[in-house]
Amino acid sequence: MAATRRPGRNHLFVPGPTNIPDRVQRAMIVPSEDHRSVDFPTLTKPLFEETKAVFGSTEGTIFLFPASGTGIWESALTNTLHRGDKVLTSRFGQFSHLWIDMAQRLGLNVIVQEEEWGTGANPQRIEEALRADTNHEIKAVMTVHNETATGVTSDIGAVRKAIDAAGHPALLFVDGVSSIGSLPFYADEWKVDCAIAGSQKGLMLPAGLGVICVSQKALKAAESSSGPNDRLAHVYFDWADHQKQNGAGYFPYTPALPLLYGLREALACLREEGLENVYHRHAVLGEATRQAVAAWGLKTCAKEAKWNSDTVTAILVPEGVDAAAIIKHAFVRYNLALGAGLSQVAGKVFRIGHVGDLNELSLLGAIAGAEMAMLDNGVKVQPGSGVAAASSYLRENPLAKS
Ligand SMILES: *Cc1c(COP(=O)(O)O)cnc(C)c1O
Repeated sequence: MAATRRPGRNHLFVPGPTNIPDRVQRAMIVPSEDHRSVDFPTLTKPLFEETKAVFGSTEGTIFLFPASGTGIWESALTNTLHRGDKVLTSRFGQFSHLWIDMAQRLGLNVIVQEEEWGTGANPQRIEEALRADTNHEIKAVMTVHNETATGVTSDIGAVRKAIDAAGHPALLFVDGVSSIGSLPFYADEWKVDCAIAGSQKGLMLPAGLGVICVSQKALKAAESSSGPNDRLAHVYFDWADHQKQNGAGYFPYTPALPLLYGLREALACLREEGLENVYHRHAVLGEATRQAVAAWGLKTCAKEAKWNSDTVTAILVPEGVDAAAIIKHAFVRYNLALGAGLSQVAGKVFRIGHVGDLNELSLLGAIAGAEMAMLDNGVKVQPGSGVAAASSYLRENPLAKS
């Protein structure tokens, strides 16, 4: 009889949802309670303050929605923009593509800078486009910080410099769904007007809690309206409805209660490790993964070192090999979940997510499993080479900075 149970832990190495620390999981096992009770703000009020740290903000305003990251994209666009507004963005992977698709379907006039997949936002092109927009018709610049589909991180500080160099007043919206809580993110310093996060990646929670950190400038944009007809419709995601209630620790509708308890615990985990250590750990684990890829003689989807993402590595398989077959085999045979190639790179890459709650030995498990699954599928890598390269790098580079 075929076994119906896979023994041992599943090795979850998709770049979201990520592994949930046991203590965070336990913190979410709570009875239901009255979200209008006098006790409830004891839980919620500190969350609005404490969540700002992962955004690198003290000046921003946090909104918490029962939604996935996609919902928070919508909240940023609909609260601040009007039908037909011009927005400037670049497309270099499936997530930047989907955000563009949303903006178009909402009725925005989207100026798309196509960048090669494996690269990211080009600050010089952004500056040129903004300089050319002398009437300031472009209302926002949208950038995906970490393109999860290709394993590419864009330089948001450089995007901010480009906007300032052009002397352009456009808002800056940044998708940090697979970076915030794992990669350095400085919403105040970079003057990010809407910084967008989801719960199931760096925040180490299940999907279902969408988080946005909004600047004063974006709040003002949300208040000003040139008439009800050309505002983008937003009801569920209306910041103003939340603002009326959040100050006292309440929400306009039923919050996702267990996720709020989970968020409190996940933020405690990040605080106890120290955000600088969290960022350093991701940098070390990202580099160890890339050392393994190099030892296999393979290439990453990221075209140059400057694009390397420290939360996800997309690995190009040799011509004639189906990456989807490797992913399926890794799961069925070794209980290892690797990320699939999406859209343009489907079948060409598999992804190792190294985001959230992991350490040296968990990463080495994924590298060993990927290596075994590749060998089983005819990829002629040197057995043990990836594990050897990653482990010697990890021995030399401790995860904790301090
Ligand atoms: C996962 C992800 C999203 C989408 O988030 P959902 O929670 O699946 O809606 C958006 N952007 C990036 C960069 C992501 O990695």
